[in-house]
Amino acid sequence: MNTDLDSLQVSILSSGSSGNVAYIQTDQHQILLDAGLSGIKIRKLLKKIGRSIDDIDMLFISHEHSDHTQGVGVLARRCPKIKVFANQETWDSLPDSLGVIPANQQVVFPVGTIQAFGDITVQSFGVSHDAALEQCYVFKQGAKQFVLITDTGYISESIQHYIADSTAFALECNYDVEMLMNGPYPWPLKQRILCDTGHMSNEDEAEVLANVIGDDTKAVFLTHRSHHNNTKLVAHQTVSEILTDRGLNVDVDFNLYDTDICEPTKLIKL
Ligand SMILES: [Zn+2]
Ligand SMILES: [Zn+2]
Repeated sequence: MNTDLDSLQVSILSSGSSGNVAYIQTDQHQILLDAGLSGIKIRKLLKKIGRSIDDIDMLFISHEHSDHTQGVGVLARRCPKIKVFANQETWDSLPDSLGVIPANQQVVFPVGTIQAFGDITVQSFGVSHDAALEQCYVFKQGAKQFVLITDTGYISESIQHYIADSTAFALECNYDVEMLMNGPYPWPLKQRILCDTGHMSNEDEAEVLANVIGDDTKAVFLTHRSHHNNTKLVAHQTVSEILTDRGLNVDVDFNLYDTDICEPTKLIKL
């Protein structure tokens, strides 16, 4: 078969603290990463970028929280060709409310697995979050690489080293520190968000990006923004300013894309 090893495309279909779904396409596969919305919403979002749920063949799950898994059961039952990948700890922790996921569609994909599926290679790695055992993923095709890291208190140096110079990054910018501290959340919840197993701030994301963006980087998606403790403008400006201060040419060497809940980014060819 003649496969184009330059066909990796990505859209963040939905991102925010109430629902997360990303779409990844190669010549041979159409993949979802998390399914944190209803099946109907995910179908509509795919339609907006000109794709169909019936063509999805793989779904990778990061962790069991409902903003990443709400639609997993319904999608699996409606689309029998979708294989669902998660580590055993996540499988064991999925909420009962998802309903039955047919056994022949369940695949155990442990932390640290590297596996090729035709024209794409997927690698999982662990991050620090208050879930059973969260894992994030790198998707590689030829020289192109897309990495999505969300729901983590920090990104370790070894992970930064590993993901450096990816073609596209989707990293979490959950909150603005001042908005969180002055906002309506009770103190224990603020502490949960701020701690090492919580979420990353706009500043945290920018500092990591400044370390990992390289000559091959074309796209950066700002993801998993909190409704209460962040805004699109604050996140974009904070990240953009820090990267510019660190000598990077934002919007020249690479693009900074905002993401939204239930509004897909355009489908970007990497
Ligand atoms: Zn989340
Ligand atoms: Zn989470």
